[in-house]
Amino acid sequence: MSEVLDRGYLGMGKDVQVFEKNLSSFFGRNALCVVNGTAALHLSLQALGISRGDEVLVPSLTYISTFQAISACGAKPVACEIYENTLTIDLENAQKQITKKTKAILPVHYAGGVADLDKVYLFAKKNKLRVIEDAAHAFGTKYKNKRVGNIGDIVCFSFDGIKNITSGEGGCIVTSDKKVIDKIKDSRLLGVIKDTEKRYSGLRSWNFDVKEQGWRYHMSNLMAAIGIVQLEKFNKLSKKRQELAKYYDKLLEKISFVKILKQNYDEVVPHIYTIRLLDNSDRDKLREKLNKKGIETGIHYYPNHKLSFYKLKKKEILPLTDKIFNQLLTLPLHPDLRKKDIRYIVSEIKKIKIKKNVQTTSK
Ligand SMILES: *Cc1c(COP(=O)(O)O)cnc(C)c1O
Repeated sequence: MSEVLDRGYLGMGKDVQVFEKNLSSFFGRNALCVVNGTAALHLSLQALGISRGDEVLVPSLTYISTFQAISACGAKPVACEIYENTLTIDLENAQKQITKKTKAILPVHYAGGVADLDKVYLFAKKNKLRVIEDAAHAFGTKYKNKRVGNIGDIVCFSFDGIKNITSGEGGCIVTSDKKVIDKIKDSRLLGVIKDTEKRYSGLRSWNFDVKEQGWRYHMSNLMAAIGIVQLEKFNKLSKKRQELAKYYDKLLEKISFVKILKQNYDEVVPHIYTIRLLDNSDRDKLREKLNKKGIETGIHYYPNHKLSFYKLKKKEILPLTDKIFNQLLTLPLHPDLRKKDIRYIVSEIKKIKIKKNVQTTSK
């Protein structure tokens, strides 16, 4: 970063180009950097021509960013159910919600796991849909020995401050679709035609044309400088995350009211570590108590179909999502966490199990 500051050009230039090159060799195909993961999703949808009147299948259990990227195009996010074991999009439910307006499916790789990605692509092929993978949680995850991003239609990542690698703020799009690449190269720079090429040769566009709506979504050299170093540290960072998640699994497996998300942490690089609390455990009370012990937890996520902006009609409920989100608890996970910390967290969870005030209990 200080090199970038010394050179004095803070915007999008040489360093972004280097970060893109490094990412492209990491993924084995073209990567384009943008200002954040939400922008990556928005530009991908726009590049496919998804707009007003179109529908996109998406799991309700995701970050608001996924839904906002779809509605930003004027399209409708169609909230889908999830599979209980993987918390990823339920394809049978998605199938039921297909209409003539459906253009794409946007699976979310929850906690870094990709479930059965082949099935998603079979589903898309059968229904003639494009696929945009929200891989914000899955940087570095492998599926059948290939990196997420190395395969698939359009794959979007986030380099937000808490993700598997960060550039402070940032994101990228990985695809083999040349048309999508060319479109995004312009649309991330306010639609200015060939502005990416100009900036990478140290020039600016003064006489230019714009043919489509664009956005100021490019990445800056300052952010890229962080990303370049983070990518070099990826092996170390990812091993740490995997090791810690395995340790959580080992300790939590013995607790009867805790259900762990079964993942193969030799392949999955977990962005978050989420458990389900069964037996009518009072998740919110437990969170409060853990917080008092200095253990900060999260909820991933409050379902999007329950938000005012995206609310479904009464009859279109998603029963499993509604049930599961009240049981979800995300435990601390980051590369500076120690095994000792995990032992402390698990022992506190064991101690303060709280049942909800209900007559009947079900397992
Ligand atoms: C982080 C995240 C995003 C968006 O990334 P930003 O860089 O924060 O814009 C999208 N989807 C999911 C599931 C995420 O966790």
